[in-house]
Amino acid sequence: MYKLRGHHLLCLLGYRGMGYSAEYIENMTRLHHTLRLNPDTIIHLIDGPDHLCEKYPNSGKYHCQDNDIYKRDALILEKLHLKVGKKMQWKEIENSIRKHIFPSDLVNVCETCSWRSYGVCEEGIKQIQQGKGLREVK
Ligand code: SF4
Repeated sequence: MYKLRGHHLLCLLGYRGMGYSAEYIENMTRLHHTLRLNPDTIIHLIDGPDHLCEKYPNSGKYHCQDNDIYKRDALILEKLHLKVGKKMQWKEIENSIRKHIFPSDLVNVCETCSWRSYGVCEEGIKQIQQGKGLREVK
């Protein structure tokens, strides 16, 4: 079981092996790989710093406790019709994404995220909507 906050459910869709540090990337790649190969994996939805935040580098500004990140988590969970505290399989989360999120939603929900301009998160949502799972990270 992995603890994840709201916005990271979408970040995983657009993940292409980029991140804040080598340790962060290694941890995220491992989780991404696990979810792609075992979509039955249980995710515990939490509020605040999660399994990915654990490896956020000590250098630079720590943003995982910022208000706007909490707001983004809440907005994304609301859109997905999910609640903090729920434990569910990754494939059920993908189903919620398929039903309730559109690539165009990211302009609003991820307005301040510096990664959005790469376009990979929109691509990841499209891929889920096409009935595919997570894209393999090479
Ligand atoms: S735009 Fe940023 S916060 Fe939104 S899903 Fe992509 S990486 Fe995550």
